[in-house]
Amino acid sequence: MKIENYVRDIQGFPKEGILFKDITPLLNNPEARKKCLSILVKSLNGQKIDKVVGAESRGFFFGMLLAQELNAGFVPVRKPKKLPHETISASYELEYGTDTLEMHKDAIQKGNRVLIHDDVLATGGTAKAVCDLVTELGGEIVQCNFLMELSFLNGREKIKDNPIFVAITY
Ligand code: 5GP
Repeated sequence: MKIENYVRDIQGFPKEGILFKDITPLLNNPEARKKCLSILVKSLNGQKIDKVVGAESRGFFFGMLLAQELNAGFVPVRKPKKLPHETISASYELEYGTDTLEMHKDAIQKGNRVLIHDDVLATGGTAKAVCDLVTELGGEIVQCNFLMELSFLNGREKIKDNPIFVAITY
């Protein structure tokens, strides 16, 4: 089974000119999901993980599966004003303007070994902001992993100080 076959291209979503990689067929198939999870877990070579941090919102799906499989905590990173407790925040640049992400202040303890997960690495802005949040709380980033990388956008440059693993490269 090839997990690539469970990602479909949607032309013009969310706006004209964008070719969107849709992972819902992958979510909808238990065998493809298991295969994908096992690829991500194997890439860690048995390294211990205390916390998996997932980026809103598509980073929650496999982020939670990874946390369960690795017997680690799961930490959601969310858009502003979504998290109820005390938060820290990090901003990153978009094509026009900036965006902000938040994480609970008490979600990571100093020295925790952290796996960062999102579905797609595109320009790297999201991943860099998540890395900044983890680092601010003293977490040690063991790996940033993604289901897919849009390599022509060169997002890995922004997070190059960390180990990166990608299941599918486009
Ligand atoms: P970046 O910040 O690296 O430019 O964008 C990554 C974020 O945008 C991820 O959180 C991801 O969910 C979303 N994203 C960007 N392009 C795509 C895409 O083609 N497919 C999916 N599923 N998500 C995308």
